[in-house]
Amino acid sequence: MLGWALTYWFYGNCQPYSSQVNDSLPLIPAKFLQLKDHFPETCIIKGSETSKMIALTFDDGPSNVTNKVLNILEANNVQATFFWLGKNLSQNQSIVRKAIAAGHQIGNHSWDHSNPINISPHELWSKQLSPTNATFDSLFGISPTLFRPPFGTTTPEQIQFINARGMKTVLWSITTLDWDLTQNTSEEILRRFKKHLHSGGIVLLHDVDFNNTHTEMLNALHDIIQYAKANDYNLVTIQELIKNK
Ligand SMILES: [Zn+2]
Repeated sequence: MLGWALTYWFYGNCQPYSSQVNDSLPLIPAKFLQLKDHFPETCIIKGSETSKMIALTFDDGPSNVTNKVLNILEANNVQATFFWLGKNLSQNQSIVRKAIAAGHQIGNHSWDHSNPINISPHELWSKQLSPTNATFDSLFGISPTLFRPPFGTTTPEQIQFINARGMKTVLWSITTLDWDLTQNTSEEILRRFKKHLHSGGIVLLHDVDFNNTHTEMLNALHDIIQYAKANDYNLVTIQELIKNK
């Protein structure tokens, strides 16, 4: 019954999260909270709120932008988590190796960013997650255990299906809207981060260029790290963030 109710809820609201979000909405969408309550161990939206840690996450790469992100993280001695697309891996192998060598956590963001709402759990696994994991394994010898659904869209059945295959679903609790061309200047990204910053926060960013606006995100990233450190937050990987949850 619960599964049915949640499925109905999701399919009844089938717009991708990314097309709905704006600054006036609650920080954490109700559907995220609903999922976390029902799948506390397998669907993660944030870490413990008792310790001053946050996790920076970057979606949609690897790309040339990733290299610049890696340089900023290295200069600030910070580790982060990347959720990457399987289709981007083979042409960006040196970037992937650089990220792994620096100790960043690597997760699966599907093969080609298809919206999970339109496909069955089995299809999500067989056509999106499994091929991406297989490419990570064959090219780099790693096996990601975290999945971030494209558009933050998923269903209870998908969460359970992939958990049975050893993967947790990771959403986020702080969005910067760095992808939104109408409001992604570095000042706006930083302001949004400061406004929503909280202990255990998972920050959504993107290591891909949105219409040549990546320099705004990169400038904001530098300031985000400085601001977090100045306020005594440790910036860690998702694995570290949820270790003592
Ligand atoms: Zn994405």
